Amino acid sequence: MVMSSFFNENFKHLTPYTPGEQPQDKRYVKLNTNESPFPPAPGVLKVVNEAEAKNLRLYSDPELKPLKAAIAETFSVEPANVFIGNGSDECLNFAFMAFGGDGMAYPDISYGFYPVFAAVNHIESDVKPLTTDFRIKVEDYFGIGKSLVLANPNAPTGLTISRTDVAALCEKNPSHVVIIDEAYVDFSEEPVSAVGLTKTYKNLLVVQTFSKSRSLAGARVGFAIGDAALIQDLETIKFSTNPYNVNRLSMAAAVEAIKDQAYTFSNVKKIQENRKYTTEALETLGFMVLPSQANFIFVRTNKIDGGSLYRRLKEEGVLVRHFESERIRDFVRITIGSREDMEMLVAKIKGIISA
Ligand SMILES: *Cc1c(COP(=O)(O)O)cnc(C)c1O
Repeated sequence: MVMSSFFNENFKHLTPYTPGEQPQDKRYVKLNTNESPFPPAPGVLKVVNEAEAKNLRLYSDPELKPLKAAIAETFSVEPANVFIGNGSDECLNFAFMAFGGDGMAYPDISYGFYPVFAAVNHIESDVKPLTTDFRIKVEDYFGIGKSLVLANPNAPTGLTISRTDVAALCEKNPSHVVIIDEAYVDFSEEPVSAVGLTKTYKNLLVVQTFSKSRSLAGARVGFAIGDAALIQDLETIKFSTNPYNVNRLSMAAAVEAIKDQAYTFSNVKKIQENRKYTTEALETLGFMVLPSQANFIFVRTNKIDGGSLYRRLKEEGVLVRHFESERIRDFVRITIGSREDMEMLVAKIKGIISA
């Protein structure tokens, strides 16, 4: 890797996160970064275009009051229980900084940013392998003497843990913070969200995002819900790094998006239907599909390896995600898009594996 001779020693060995491709060369059917196939809610476009753009000369509200109020109302908590970040990535990074003093535990197969947040903050990672069927074994995290972060549903598997499991994790780690990353929770048909448990457990922090179910990946807004004291710690980090972390247009967009729950739910329902359609269609073609509760599926076949399937689909104008790491290199992760996108994907895969 190229670096200057001036680069701080502390960061010389850092391997940055590799985001999914956002190619600009041609139009792909993008099923690689779990974005929504649907546009933002109608109210979002109106407020961003008409109301808020003229105010851009002014700094944004560092306390993000209207958005905190809207999130608090939606989740039946107080504004003091809500932290808002520039994407949930920022919430997670701040949570690593704030609560990773004794290290951070997470699964070997999960969100690829966790090891990077640990490394950039010089936090020791305690990596626990998933079971052979790619499940989180919650007992692995009981009394581990450090904070932990689990994605629920997990990425890239789409598998969930129950609320009872989350409660047990909080009880077995009373001196550390249990961070539950619920980026995909809206797509789950199982009621797994732990937001309601934040009233019981003072060491539980639940992180969610506007990027997936609310069609605002490009706006960069995420949030964390937890005990007011945990939230205050995150605010301390934010006001020590970037007080205006969410810009005016994004805050206005997010307020409109969270108010329009009906729009979000109707889109989520379509994704759930398309997930079922795609799962069944690929199973018919002989694929093994993990039972996903997210807006993506993680699939494998013995007819073609994951890397080749990814490359062949890309040649055909369809982007999916392939990971090189040992345990999952046979798989590809496919974002669930519109029905039209999924029908096209299934047809292309059929062509590729029968060629
Ligand atoms: C997409 C994703 C995020 C990040 O979302 P942003 O809010 O866009 O930063 C966080 N965690 C997981 C597991 C994700 O897949």
